[in-house]
Amino acid sequence: MNDTTVTNWAGNITYTAAEVLRPDTLDSLRAAVARSRTVRVLGSGHSFNEIAEPGPEGVLLSLASLPAEVDVDTAARTVRVGGGVRYAELARLVHARGLALPNMASLPHISVAGSVATGTHGSGVGNGSLASAVREVELVTADGSTVTVARGEERFGGAVTSLGALGVVTALTLDLEPAYEVEQHVFTELPSAGLDTATFETVMSAAYSVSLFTDWREPGFRQVWLKRRTDRPLPGFPYAVPATEKMHPVPGMPAVNCTEQFGVPGPWHERLPHFRADFVPSSGAELQSEYLMPREHAVDALRALDAVRDVVAPVLQTCEVRTVAADEQWLSPSYGRDTVALHFTWVEDTAAVLPVVRRLEDALDAFDARPHWGKVFTTPAAVLRARYPRLDDFGALVKSLDPQGTFTNAFVREVLAG
Ligand SMILES: Cc1cc2nc3c(=O)[nH]c(=O)nc-3n(C[C@H](O)[C@H](O)[C@H](O)COP(=O)(O)OP(=O)(O)OC[C@H]3O[C@@H](n4cnc5c(N)ncnc54)[C@H](O)[C@@H]3O)c2cc1C
Repeated sequence: MNDTTVTNWAGNITYTAAEVLRPDTLDSLRAAVARSRTVRVLGSGHSFNEIAEPGPEGVLLSLASLPAEVDVDTAARTVRVGGGVRYAELARLVHARGLALPNMASLPHISVAGSVATGTHGSGVGNGSLASAVREVELVTADGSTVTVARGEERFGGAVTSLGALGVVTALTLDLEPAYEVEQHVFTELPSAGLDTATFETVMSAAYSVSLFTDWREPGFRQVWLKRRTDRPLPGFPYAVPATEKMHPVPGMPAVNCTEQFGVPGPWHERLPHFRADFVPSSGAELQSEYLMPREHAVDALRALDAVRDVVAPVLQTCEVRTVAADEQWLSPSYGRDTVALHFTWVEDTAAVLPVVRRLEDALDAFDARPHWGKVFTTPAAVLRARYPRLDDFGALVKSLDPQGTFTNAFVREVLAG
């Protein structure tokens, strides 16, 4: 490597690239790609596995030195955003123009291109993954030329949640809507005894975005976070106890890192993420896994998880339950099905966590669970193949846009080979 060592945010992956390049113009990016045999783009590095790893002969390409383009079209209600821009910057500029994104993940620190490439999502029974807001993708392909793929084209289904395998995403155009305000209400002690599908649906539909948290040390959910749009009704929430102090989803972490609670209304981008842009998100010392299943399996999957509570709890910092509406990206973990997402923030100890991840995958096997592409998983490629009906179409798209496999690394090869 011709640069200082580069790791992911969590520090559990050190990239083994031959070169780390940070072009500061589009022309130098094109030239760098055109002369390289293997290229992987590094977004903000918030993935927990080797998805961005180019291998020891490859080039790791960061877009962080490119101009941070954010071009809002207020009449069309769209924004064209550069390939290295993070949600925090995007959201601030979009809000300043009186517009909003439909949803955000738990943190605004992540890059837009990297997030939609892995199927990143927030919560909400009516909210699709972040990729659902994308209407156009601009890619620099292996010969340095630009290809634009727009919603409505058949191949668009593979173009957004693409695992970085099609080319360098230099810009994305996203749908916007008029700006809105959100209030955040936190509750504690939601019992799980007797939780049936009807109650689960009612709880998860109680606000625009709903998250349940537990550490699985005791039955039941320790926290419920309701994010209510102020332009929508506020239903009563008799299922849990209102919090009496500001909370952090990870026990022992300071609530000051979190977005405003106690129902104080504020701009969408300062409430939809759990964590404030200028603070460390989550615990900062952790690994993560997440499994996305058809929502009708939610209660059975939670029961299956409860049955392995004693295995999971010792290496767990927190578990979050969210919902994601079906989307149309072939490789999205919520492709074609309304989804429940079970997320795990583990301790920062790969050796201790991996066997638990395997046990968890066994426990969730019956529920057609798709792992989050950016988190720790051990699901075999053959199983992934059975769970992604459009994987061959994606493979064909990779071949057509990148016949030499310049943007295919070991991670992508494994997924496609399955
Ligand atoms: C604290 C924390 C909280 C999280 N919360 C959530 C959450 O709420 N919901 C959720 O779903 N996930 C969550 N994640 C996971 C995170 O959203 C994903 O890992 C996401 O991919 C991060 O984006 P990134 O830019 O850091 O991606 P990276 O890890 O940098 O890259 C991910 C993939 O995208 C590709 N890529 C990145 N940029 C480009 C580009 N310009 N062109 C082509 N390919 C590109 C990379 O090659 C790689 O394959 C969380 C992660 C952390 C660390």
